[in-house]
Amino acid sequence: MKTIALIGLGLSASLVGAGAAIALKGWQFSSKAPQNLVADLSQITVPSICETNLLNKVTANLSYVRTANRLIHDPAPLLTNVNALFNSDVGATLMPAPFPNISDRARKAGVPVIMYHNILPEPTIPWDTRLEDFEQHLALIKEKGLTPISMDQLVLHLRTGASLPPKPILLTFDDNYEGQYKYAFPLLKKYNYPAVWSVHTRYVGVKDDHPKAGWAELKEMHESGLITIASHTVNHLNLVTTPLSDAEILRELRESKATLEKELGIEVKYFTYPEGDNDARVRRLVQEAGYTAALAMTLDAELETTANKSADLLSIMRFGQSRFAYAIELADAGTPLPTFNPFAEAKISATKRADFTTPVELKRVTVRNMPLVLVYGGKPVTIHADTRGQVADIMKTTPAIAAVDGGFHSLEFLDSNAMIGPVLSQNSSRKGEFIIGNKGENPLLNGRPLVLISPTDVKFVPFDAKIHVSLESLQAELPDVTDAFVAAGWLVRDGKAQPAESFGKLYGFDAYRDRAFWGIDKSGRPVIGVTMEMIDSVGLGKILEEAGLHDVVMLDSGASAALAYRGESVMSYEPRPVPHLVALYAPDPAPFTSNANRLNCVVSQK
Ligand SMILES: [Zn+2]
Repeated sequence: MKTIALIGLGLSASLVGAGAAIALKGWQFSSKAPQNLVADLSQITVPSICETNLLNKVTANLSYVRTANRLIHDPAPLLTNVNALFNSDVGATLMPAPFPNISDRARKAGVPVIMYHNILPEPTIPWDTRLEDFEQHLALIKEKGLTPISMDQLVLHLRTGASLPPKPILLTFDDNYEGQYKYAFPLLKKYNYPAVWSVHTRYVGVKDDHPKAGWAELKEMHESGLITIASHTVNHLNLVTTPLSDAEILRELRESKATLEKELGIEVKYFTYPEGDNDARVRRLVQEAGYTAALAMTLDAELETTANKSADLLSIMRFGQSRFAYAIELADAGTPLPTFNPFAEAKISATKRADFTTPVELKRVTVRNMPLVLVYGGKPVTIHADTRGQVADIMKTTPAIAAVDGGFHSLEFLDSNAMIGPVLSQNSSRKGEFIIGNKGENPLLNGRPLVLISPTDVKFVPFDAKIHVSLESLQAELPDVTDAFVAAGWLVRDGKAQPAESFGKLYGFDAYRDRAFWGIDKSGRPVIGVTMEMIDSVGLGKILEEAGLHDVVMLDSGASAALAYRGESVMSYEPRPVPHLVALYAPDPAPFTSNANRLNCVVSQK
């Protein structure tokens, strides 16, 4: 029941705003938990400890607890680890793109920003919108499942990639016309849709041919909670084409902001360019005046695009309302960031694919006339022996159930266990030590698969001799990595057999040889294997793709190809002795059944 208490820690996360810190609370198992490390995570409901299937999820979540635990005791790497840990809006929020850039994550979504001027039952000038048309726009938004968002939501999203609701859209109203207050605002309230009002302060309350709303109306709109008030300068001068000095532009920017803040008692963060015009100088001054983002526009329909495709936060592009029908089709929330939840089902992380909980079993299969020995399941580890030997002999020093010869070893010294390329192994007299290999030769391995194994996952990434130079560099690829080495090449990558080009200059890849390999199948089970007859690498890839494997890398092949199962070699010849193996241990504990869940749950509450 101790384990349940550990898993049942009150860990939850909430989005608390750009640049905010998060705090970890409720670490009942650790008296040293820093209380204000970062965050109030109490806002999200933690599922009851008696939630069914809780125990089923324990194994899958152990790695998260491990990572979280490490974080608590060593908060320094928080900022770099938090995204991997939470993989969520919290992580994204802590790492905004440098101002005024739009984050790469946000580039994948699309938020159309619609620009309206006056709304009137009978338009008087070309850029007025007929009330009936505006009503139809709102009805369409609802009918098509679009979600109007606020300016704050948009800007946070653009800066960090934070998630958006389905089909997001932003509605904006320029020039503070009385008709907007009179006709548009009541409809926005009816639908509960947020919007932006861009106000030129000299014209507030002016009743000319095109009357403007007054301070009382603006206050009412702000207080509704739906309307974000943005500055639209004092005098509504085009800041690019009007001959103005920097000081004069700054006065337009600062005075309008200060007036709105004083009259309405609010903070004004956003600016809207009169006529949309802006250039580098004006944008620099907008930033200098203290704005967080600015809305632009263009008279060239070709240049109209979503906020996400705009150049930066200081020139967010909009669509004129006449292009409404076109623009709403572009609304796209992108791929949502998964939210961290320690009780979620397995495969929480998009990158985690491995399953180390299935039993180890040997299968002899023939695919396209090629006899293969495949061993599925268990938990993969490497063994790096001090001297070379037969696979069956080396594995006897460990609890391994099956093993195959591993990475390439140097042929330079016959007795040496030196490997080609970096190596890290949990079964080694230099356990846990990153051995960099021959630095001069490592660049020759660039692009070959770097195999990374952790207690819960496996990853194959292209080796880069400039990057993969330390244990930390491997941890950046796979936190908790315990084993690593460079393999010969991908036979199957992402479910696809690899073509000859992918093997580059690998010596003898196209020759007929005995071949050893390992990887994972489509369900994430580890697989090690050997061919029982000779074959070239490309042909073997096709066979393994057909056998249902998802990612497979080739190991040391030819005379070294060797596989042993339960202490016995399965080879028909005596292979060359090797110092390095990929082995399969017994699987991690299998998940409990749902009945056991309920039982344990009741007991644990007593
Ligand atoms: Zn305007």
